[in-house]
Parts: sequence; structure tokens; C-alpha cells
Amino acid sequence: MTAGLSIVVPLYNEAKGLASLHASLAEVARALTQTRGLRVEVVYVDDGSHDETFHIAQALPASALDVQIVSLSRNFGKEAALAAGLDHARFGAVLFMDGDGQHSPDLIARLVAYWLDEGYDVVYTAKAHRANEPLTRRLGGKLFYTLLNWGSRHKIPEDAGDFRLLSPRAATALRAMPERNRFFKGLASWIGFRQKRVDYEPGEREHGKTTFGLTSLFVLSIEGLTSFSVAPLRLASLLGVLLAATALLFGASMLFEVLFYGVAVPGYPSMVVGLMVLGGVQLVMIGVVGEYIGKILSEIKARPVYFVAEHSVKTAQERSADATRAAAE
Ligand code: UDP
Ligand code: MG
Repeated sequence: MTAGLSIVVPLYNEAKGLASLHASLAEVARALTQTRGLRVEVVYVDDGSHDETFHIAQALPASALDVQIVSLSRNFGKEAALAAGLDHARFGAVLFMDGDGQHSPDLIARLVAYWLDEGYDVVYTAKAHRANEPLTRRLGGKLFYTLLNWGSRHKIPEDAGDFRLLSPRAATALRAMPERNRFFKGLASWIGFRQKRVDYEPGEREHGKTTFGLTSLFVLSIEGLTSFSVAPLRLASLLGVLLAATALLFGASMLFEVLFYGVAVPGYPSMVVGLMVLGGVQLVMIGVVGEYIGKILSEIKARPVYFVAEHSVKTAQERSADATRAAAE
């Protein structure tokens, strides 16, 4: 059996750039088939787009590569779209890339080379630098990864993007993860195997605007953190210990002042401050615990991550023509 590559592209309102993206993917696929004998397919996951994405995708030619279109029943979010793509990929190795032009198809050959020539299982791209991002986003990212990796045996690399290639065995490992709350970047790193980092500069979005503003990034970070690590819970315990220690010291110092200097303890203000600090910290920590209970609830409900409304597969004409020719000869 010839080896193959499935390219998974999540699409949410990406009608404008889809045709040109498909043309360049077909180009890349043609080259890969010729130079390496790879069977290539693209899996477009239409994540409940409101524009023409689905119709345009259906009209795309399957010339050099197979075209699968998986249309979800509504907008489930990028992580769910990636999961849908992974489930439908048929050719062993899986490559994930965004459909907005930020992930350059030109890089695909390089990622494939690391997989086939050097035997890497997970080839992931990382932003070469983040100087062009706003400070809040960079600081937020730092904080997120510090918390995520805090005290964990396996460190998730910072700045890794969703543009990555998984070898067949890595893809199988990723499929074997049962969780519903998926933090894809983390999982792809967590599975281990031979991982390779490739630095690159993501392009500008070609049209439209990002669906991930500061708020949704914040929500996503909380999702990622709580579905992946217990660091926030540990932070809560640590904070509790710290507060208790402070209170102990404070109490001891007051006792000392009363006993040795006869100073009357100024009661009211310090009590109110103490109460408010304690009350606040407790509420926050109940919130943290609540996040985890929410996660447990959604895992227990075990709902499917997505529903497929429509699904189609078109086989590459060039390849089937080749096959007929080969069979005739
Ligand atoms: N996307 C998706 N579902 C969503 C939001 C985004 O499938 O609910 C897709 C989107 O079409 C694109 C990719 O995920 O192909 C990345 O989205 P975006 O460019 O908005 O994110 P950013 O590049 O800013 O991280
Ligand atoms: Mg983008």
C-alpha cells in the first residue's frame, strides 16, 4: 500500500480564499505524488459557516488529490472541527492547517520531508517571533504556558501553532484520546514520539478577521488549562498555605506586641481587611473548583464532540486515470 497524507483544513466562513487555497494545495499534492508517491487527500471541515463556504467547497475539483467535505451541523469551534477532520482522515499521516491563508501550503513539503526522511512523528510549526503581537497577548501567553507546564512532567512547547503534521502512529495515538474537552496543541505534544519544531512566520489573514479576540482567547485559555492540567487547583492549595502562614505570623506579631510592649491591638480595620481577603480568595477558589466540576460533568455526559450534517468524498481524477492506464497496460 502506498503511504498517504490527509490534509485537514477547518473552515469557518472562509469562502473568499477557499478556491485559491485549494489550487495551491492541489499543486503541493501533485508534487508530493510525483516525488514521493504519496496519496494525498484534503479534508475540508465546514464548521457551520454562514457564508458560501460549503457550496464553494463542493464545487472544488478533485484533480490531483481526493477531496472530502465534512459539513458539521452547526458551529462547534475549531477544536471540534479538527477532531472531525482527524476522524475522517483516511490516509494515515495527518496534516492540520488553517484555511485562512495564514499557514502557507509551501511549507507542507518541508514538514513531509521531516516525517519521511528523518522519521519524525510530530512535526509542528512555531512562530519564529511574536514581536508583532500586542503586549497583553504575549504576556497572557506566557502566563498561560507557565501555569500549564507548572510541575508537569511533560512540557508543552510555547508558541506552537495548529499547523502540524502527524505520522500515522501519532495520528492513531491522538485518535485514542477519549476526552471531549480537547486542547489539541497540548494533546499533540503530550502523546510523545519523536517531535520536531519548525520555526516559521505565519502570514497575515488574507480576508475577514480572526474569530479569536482577546475575550475568546481568554475563555479558550481557561478551557485549555482546566482540561489539561491541575495547576490552578494546586495554585489554590498553595495560596491557602501562604495565607495561613501569613495569618500565623501576623497573629504571633500581635501577641508579641501585646505581651512585651503592652500595645493595644488595633482591631477593627485589620479584621475587615483580613475577612475581605479571605472571602475573596475563597470565592475565586470555589470558582476554580467549579471549572473542574464543569469539566467532569461534560465528560460524564459524554456527548459527541460534533455532528456531521453532510459528508462527501471525491476521488482524484488524475490518479484514477493513472490507475486505469496502469491496469490496461
Ligand atoms: N475556525 C473554525 N471554527 C471556528 C473558528 C475558526 O473551524 O469556530 C477555523 C478558521 O476557519 C480557520 C482556523 O480555524 O481556518 C483558524 O481561525 P482564525 O484564523 O480565526 O484563528 P487565528 O488564526 O486568529 O488563531
Ligand atoms: Mg487565522
